[in-house]
Amino acid sequence: MQFATRLDNVETSAIRELFKLLGKPGIISFAGGFPDSAMFDVEGLKEASAKALAEEPGGALQYGATEGYEPLRAQLSAFMKGKGVEVAPDGLIVTTGSQQALDLLGKTLISPGDKVIVEGPTFLATIQCFRLYGAQLISAPIDAEGVQVDRLEQLIVEHKPKFVYLIPTFGNPSGAMLSLERRKKVLELAVKHDTVIVEDDPYGDLYFGKAPPPSILSLTKEVPGSRERVVHCGSLSKVLSPGLRIGWMIAPPELLAKATMCKQFSDAHTSTFAQATAAQYLKSGRMPDTLAHVRKVYAERAAAMGAALKRELGDAISFTQPGGGLFFWARLTGAKGKLADANVLAQRAIEKGVAFVPGAPFFAEKPDLATLRLSFATANVEKIEEGIARLGAAL
Ligand code: PMP
Repeated sequence: MQFATRLDNVETSAIRELFKLLGKPGIISFAGGFPDSAMFDVEGLKEASAKALAEEPGGALQYGATEGYEPLRAQLSAFMKGKGVEVAPDGLIVTTGSQQALDLLGKTLISPGDKVIVEGPTFLATIQCFRLYGAQLISAPIDAEGVQVDRLEQLIVEHKPKFVYLIPTFGNPSGAMLSLERRKKVLELAVKHDTVIVEDDPYGDLYFGKAPPPSILSLTKEVPGSRERVVHCGSLSKVLSPGLRIGWMIAPPELLAKATMCKQFSDAHTSTFAQATAAQYLKSGRMPDTLAHVRKVYAERAAAMGAALKRELGDAISFTQPGGGLFFWARLTGAKGKLADANVLAQRAIEKGVAFVPGAPFFAEKPDLATLRLSFATANVEKIEEGIARLGAAL
């Protein structure tokens, strides 16, 4: 079959290939990007879906507006207000997961050959999605405080990107959190160099101790001229349920209109049943307790993983303890002649009964072969300790 030439720009992700090996019995997996199914508020969602059907069967089961189901847009507007963002219900559109928002940004903003700056490392599906639209990705380096803003400025000046895509809060895979000072600097750069910042924020509510700094979108209040240069993508996937496929995009009206048009040709609208359920759920007032619960459980697991990594791998690995999200991003140091190639370690680890994802595919440019991503989300503390001990043995 003759496929479209745009497919020449992407290949099946190496991670998908690795996932095929995970079926092996007894494997402890730190490889996935999933939240823990045991954390889903099933009772709350049962009630919400029953209410959606009882109170608004027409809305919940009929075709709906492409922009999103009005009661959900209103609830999301209130949810964002709780996070310091003033946005009217018609200032956002509901998307089928935040993944669709990324796709719509590709469709509406990227022409073949356009440059887009991303973090190195960044979310693999973003790399693939933007490349499908022909983007040339430029990688901006990060450290524990997120993207290095001085380097980012140089790259903006040099490449004049269509936009800059950041995961400022508990990045996937980096776990890094962009500092307050750097967030403001990013906005100043957007204004100074007339570029657009896309803030992808599926993990911002998943913090363990201190709340992260305000989102880049909420900081636009402090930087004149910056609001019309920021796109913000949100999601209920990591805190409530990824299966609902509820995400949203906040963007300037002109871009929202184009994205809505493209969405119309793509899926017409996000499932009205899922939207009505999510609206009822947010209205029920259960979200704060759900958030408190997931934060507590993931915080315990992250603490256990950090301690186990130190104990079992010592100076053979370096990492920053994440303050939220789902991931540890680590680097093999090669100390005392130990292995420093995460691909080789991944194969050996599978033989020892533990899985993780090597970091290289998360780089749009210049992969660092010593890096790896470990998710602490789906294994309990006991499994985490056993899994990291196996990783130590593999190393
Ligand atoms: N952005 C990032 C950074 C992610 O990690 C994910 C999920 N892995 C998504 C977007 C997409 O999530 P969803 O479509 O489920 O909202």
